[in-house]
Amino acid sequence: MSPNPYTAPVRTLIRGAMVIERPEAGSARRADVVIEGRRYEAVVAGGGVGGAFDRVIDGEGCLLIPGLVNAHTHLAMTLFRGLSPDLPLKRWLEEEIWPREEKLTSKDVYWGSLLGLAEMIRSGTTAFLDMYFFMDEVARAVEEVGLRALLGYGIIAPTPERIAPEIEAAERFARGWDGKAEGRIRVALAPHAPTTCHPAAWQWVTELARELHVPLHTHLAETESEVEEIRAKTKKSPVEWLEELEVFSVPVVAAHCVHLSEKDIEILAAHGASAVHCPTSNLKLASGIAPVQEMLDGGVNVALGTDGAASAGDLNMIEEMRLAALLAKVRAHNPHALPAPEALRCATARGAVALGLGKELGTIEPGRRADGVLLSREGPQFCPGYDPLGDLVYAGQGSDVKAVFVEGRLLFAEGEHLTLDLDEVQGRCCRMSRRFR
Ligand SMILES: [Zn+2]
Repeated sequence: MSPNPYTAPVRTLIRGAMVIERPEAGSARRADVVIEGRRYEAVVAGGGVGGAFDRVIDGEGCLLIPGLVNAHTHLAMTLFRGLSPDLPLKRWLEEEIWPREEKLTSKDVYWGSLLGLAEMIRSGTTAFLDMYFFMDEVARAVEEVGLRALLGYGIIAPTPERIAPEIEAAERFARGWDGKAEGRIRVALAPHAPTTCHPAAWQWVTELARELHVPLHTHLAETESEVEEIRAKTKKSPVEWLEELEVFSVPVVAAHCVHLSEKDIEILAAHGASAVHCPTSNLKLASGIAPVQEMLDGGVNVALGTDGAASAGDLNMIEEMRLAALLAKVRAHNPHALPAPEALRCATARGAVALGLGKELGTIEPGRRADGVLLSREGPQFCPGYDPLGDLVYAGQGSDVKAVFVEGRLLFAEGEHLTLDLDEVQGRCCRMSRRFR
């Protein structure tokens, strides 16, 4: 698939939308937004911008928000969606997923990634963090389709003899792809979890992350059984144990963080680590409810993610945002916990911070990279429309997304993908899925 010339970054006017410029401000205002090439140039309150534009997008009746950031997923697991639901994490992974992953080919991962990219784009995601295998194929799909990504080759090295081959594969990928696709692809190193990586693997991968100036992405404190297993071996919590191994001496993006002590939260905050709350996956696998408000109060950057479609069902960040806001209130017995503006911030600006792009993304302001999502507000769920931001979080649907752009380049408009052939992708994935039944 070659890039569609009609989607090139050009001088663009988005006219007359309600714009959420900074999620934490908590409000939207009617404005015209000008994009020059890859960046936002101006936000003009009230509208009325004139002049010559290569492209004018009608934003009447729409909400314009910064692009959603899915800070934890395994894209190609779309191919395993719907297999063996309703199992606990350990059994589900060991009995259902890992044997099927043994059968995966690079071609499967390429097409499964395209399926995941399509699903993410049409529900408003513009950037994501992925950990999987055959990552060259994931990167190739990202390069073609036009999203932004931080990609890490999953390292599973529980025994000393597995360490070198796993880390060398991850290093090869990282050196090969960092900064590719005009800078849209950045890389991470991705040791899978405290229970699946040997201490020597953690030390090696941390050293390598320091050398390559890249972050670590891992699963952390996801289940009670993980905490018990690490405590039995080390007398420490998983977070304390990784701190002892000096893992937090490099930037860490830790998925889940469900089972944390107060001390764990202090450690994450002290080292500037990001936690990625994945509410749907945690609910579906009955892992628990992460202490999101406690982490935010303690100074931890909390992003949101879907996890893979096999454990979450879908890759819809609007749903994650709503669940995050609702679960935080139940956990705290307090309706003020994770208010809607903060939930949107976790799904946008805080996700950007997790990706190391906090100064480039996450708001609609002059000079920022032009990643954004236009959503229709015309459905009955947005009527009467007192609070556009609150309506988005508590009533919005992925299907409300009307247009998606990354670095000023239009990827999706009026129900059509402009950089991939969805019929072909779905057809291929359905045919491939027969091998995994
Ligand atoms: Zn995961």
